[in-house]
Amino acid sequence: MKTIATIAELRAGLDGARAAGRTVGFVPTMGYLHDGHASLMRQARDEADVVVASIIVNPLQFGPGEDLAAYPRDLERDTALAEATGVDVLFVPDVAEMYPTPVLTTVTVARVSEPLEGEARPAHFAGVATVVAKLFSIVGPCRAYFGAKDFQQVAVVRRMVRDLSLPVEVVACPTRREPDGLAMSSRNVYLTPAEREAAPVVYTALRAGAAVIGAGERDPAAVRELMAGIIEAEPLAGLDYAAVVDADSFLVPDPLTGNLRLLAAVRFGRARLIDNVGVTV
Ligand code: AMP
Repeated sequence: MKTIATIAELRAGLDGARAAGRTVGFVPTMGYLHDGHASLMRQARDEADVVVASIIVNPLQFGPGEDLAAYPRDLERDTALAEATGVDVLFVPDVAEMYPTPVLTTVTVARVSEPLEGEARPAHFAGVATVVAKLFSIVGPCRAYFGAKDFQQVAVVRRMVRDLSLPVEVVACPTRREPDGLAMSSRNVYLTPAEREAAPVVYTALRAGAAVIGAGERDPAAVRELMAGIIEAEPLAGLDYAAVVDADSFLVPDPLTGNLRLLAAVRFGRARLIDNVGVTV
């Protein structure tokens, strides 16, 4: 595996691979890698000739007062994990390499960016869309792999790719979980032992919401209240939102119908965790 820190060197290497007819698979990350990231890299390894992963703790997608400075970093461990998972090129630009100052151009995706995470973190998805657009331009991947754990992020990226006619296929991969159901996340490292024990309540609530829909509940408010009640019964949990939306439009069908996504964001001490599950009626 090669580790590359500059845009010019990365481009030169990948231009050669593409000219030779090799396909490029790409996994963008913020590092502090876990098995969720590795599952994306494994799928890219299965499907592409050259696998590129990036690690950038992207300042544009953090709001004021969020955990940009505290975000966990361990490049040595990440390098070993990426190499062991079959990554060919690890792209690790610093912030100055990625962003001229000041940044005057950003990418904003309307509507799908606005509810839920967009409401809780107003500049977040513009930061995500901008860094992903830049990375697609730098890497030139045929396919890019994202985790369904960040469900709204995948929707934003897909819409950006469609609206800007970017020549890349966006692949969504299933959420990897700990044995007790907690979705793997770099931010799980913030959890105290007691918070870690409480955190699977998020997935429990989402599954309970999906189960009542499966049993015939069609009132979105009733599903939201059920999930919120389960999360609020956990003293260490602070509910940001629990919602059920149409998986494509992010609007709330009432009565519930079609391809639905149940999503929640919950604070446990310093950690703000998100998760989601799907159900079709
Ligand atoms: P992050 O480093 O948190 O920005 O995540 C990088 C990529 O890994 C994103 O596409 C995430 O959705 C994905 N990812 C994060 N956690 C998981 C997980 N538990 N299972 C699958 N993919 C994940």
